[in-house]
Amino acid sequence: MAPALKTLLKKLLTCSTRSLVLISLLLLFTSTFIYYTHKTLGDIQASLPIALSMQEQDVALLVNEFSDLIHLVQSAKAAMDPEAIKKLVDQISTVDRHLAKMREEYRFNDLIGVSAIHAVLNPAIFDISRWSREGVYLFPPESPQTLELIELRADEANQQATKLLSQSAGKALEILSRQAWRMSRFRQVTFATLVILGVMSLGLVISALRQQRTVFALKESEEQIRFRANFDQVSGLPNRPNFIEHLADAVARSRRTRNLIALLYIDLDRFKTINDSLGHNIGDQLIREVGQRINQCVRSTDMVARLGGDEFTVLLEDMTDAMHASLIAESIIDRLSFPYLIETHEIYSSASIGITICPIDSEDATTLLKNADMAMYQAKDMGRDTFRFFTSEMTDRARHFIEIDKDLRQALAREELFIEYQPIYDLQQGRVAGVEALMRWRHPDKGLIMPDVFIPVAEETGLIVAMGYWILQQATRQAAKWQRLGVAMPYLAVNVSTRQIIGGFCREKISPILEQSGFPANRLVLEITESLLMGEDNRVHEALDGFREMGVELAVDDFGTGYSALNYLRNFPVSLLKIDRSFIKDMVENHGDARLVETIVAMAGGLNLGVVAEGVETPDQHQALRERGCNMVQGFFYSNPVDAGTIDSLLSNGNSINDWIPADTSTKAS
Ligand code: C2E
Ligand code: MG
Ligand code: MG
Repeated sequence: MAPALKTLLKKLLTCSTRSLVLISLLLLFTSTFIYYTHKTLGDIQASLPIALSMQEQDVALLVNEFSDLIHLVQSAKAAMDPEAIKKLVDQISTVDRHLAKMREEYRFNDLIGVSAIHAVLNPAIFDISRWSREGVYLFPPESPQTLELIELRADEANQQATKLLSQSAGKALEILSRQAWRMSRFRQVTFATLVILGVMSLGLVISALRQQRTVFALKESEEQIRFRANFDQVSGLPNRPNFIEHLADAVARSRRTRNLIALLYIDLDRFKTINDSLGHNIGDQLIREVGQRINQCVRSTDMVARLGGDEFTVLLEDMTDAMHASLIAESIIDRLSFPYLIETHEIYSSASIGITICPIDSEDATTLLKNADMAMYQAKDMGRDTFRFFTSEMTDRARHFIEIDKDLRQALAREELFIEYQPIYDLQQGRVAGVEALMRWRHPDKGLIMPDVFIPVAEETGLIVAMGYWILQQATRQAAKWQRLGVAMPYLAVNVSTRQIIGGFCREKISPILEQSGFPANRLVLEITESLLMGEDNRVHEALDGFREMGVELAVDDFGTGYSALNYLRNFPVSLLKIDRSFIKDMVENHGDARLVETIVAMAGGLNLGVVAEGVETPDQHQALRERGCNMVQGFFYSNPVDAGTIDSLLSNGNSINDWIPADTSTKAS
């Protein structure tokens, strides 16, 4: 254990021993005081004037009784008859009883010297009583001599009692003044005790507060030490060791989940010049602001760290596409290129960024850091103020990705997007059952761009949300027009991606679009992917239930490519499966694929779901699907995706499948 910690512990221990002693003293003192109070107040109360006067009264009564006794002796002496003697004997026993009662009552509370009377009166009454019964010397009990002696003894006793009575008032006064003095001393002691108790309690409170303060201070310094060990002092961002630890954790997680991680290595261009010319203080402030700006470009769950000098890193976890990292790198480059106003200086800076992807480039934290560093130097070599991926192929992809994103943002406004429709046929009826709306982009320089190229970019950047509303608006408006042709209206299928639903594509949003176009909800089919159904996002559940409630049907697109678990079909309101093109492609030559298609068709039948075979290109595929009872088909064999006008004439011409099947195979189809 560190010596500093030892002394601290020792101090804390002595501190608590001291408090313990203080508390014990306080308890001892308090209990002694309570005992003293009880005793003193008891004494004082016992000697109050009432108690004194009761004892005085008793003595006075005794004096009277003795006077009566003397009187009766004298009467007996004069009369010398048995009646007078009897009265005398009665009086003797009355006095005797009274004396016994007093002895009992004041045994422990003799205030004015009642017990002194006993010393004199008890032997007297004892003698008198014995003489009255047995006589004295040779005189019989009722002889005049005995009575004479009784009178003398009674008189003597009476004098003693009278003397005590006359002294008792003075004694009572003396007692009262003594108790008054005790009382005033008692009050002084009480006051002093209260002061001592107060001081001791205050001491305890102060010591408790100090202990609390020490605990807080300890905690604070512990946090400070931890902060210093893990964070950079200038920018407040995680430092190199902290970042490397995080990176290693993230890499370990990605090994389990197979999610993508991007590591961005950012280096400020020409920071040394700024530092040298404007000083370290300005340099530090610039570093701080750069850290803040980078933080504004990432999600709160991503990590931004400063490795030292002008080098920063960003860790992006759980990415759906590596290209997303290029978007973030672009936005960091953009944001860092804005001028900085530090004190009075307007400073211009830029950054070069190297990007590496785990697990594509490596699955080792140190190698990833090295890769990103190398890529950053390539970016510097390429003229700075730019980013590079670790592999050139990825960099090219990213360039392309960013270019598409930039152009796609204007495509909607410039009306470069348009829709083609591909018919879906019902094999039993030989008619068009539905049309799928597919988005197209006519780029002013690059010509026609297919959705495979631009939809993933739009999904990554979130632009798909706006594009999704656009295609739904256009396609339902068009479909409502076909409906007005008066022919049997096929259903309209529109693709919806996960990103759209997460972005708020729901019943409340599509209802007004359908109302505006006048297209009935129950003729709309939304094509969603298996991965959407596999997610556990509540928003998805709610959105899909909402669609079903309004009558919109749901189809699982590219069925069979996603997951093998099929229980989602029970949990979601799906009504159509679209078997992926990849199974149809080889089903004629490959038995396995043919069996798989057969199984899917049978399963769909069992679950009461419709099935569409996607990507039918040849008459053999068409035939094979017919034989296996697949009810709907879609593919180049029947029709490529075409413009709305072509669908127009298809529907008005009776929309028979034979109109579309190439002449040499039409017999097979029918
Ligand atoms: P998908 O929904 O599976 O659409 C069917 C794709 O297969 C279309 O490609 C179609 O042209 C193509 N296809 C049809 N028949 C055949 C055939 O016989 N052989 C071959 N090789 N291909 C055939 P496209 O139009 O390039 O669309 C590709 C994907 O882009 C679509 O696949 C869909 O997932 C997505 N997509 C298209 N439009 C939209 C949209 O508006 N929103 C969303 N979220 N995704 C869309
Ligand atoms: Mg589709
Ligand atoms: Mg498909």
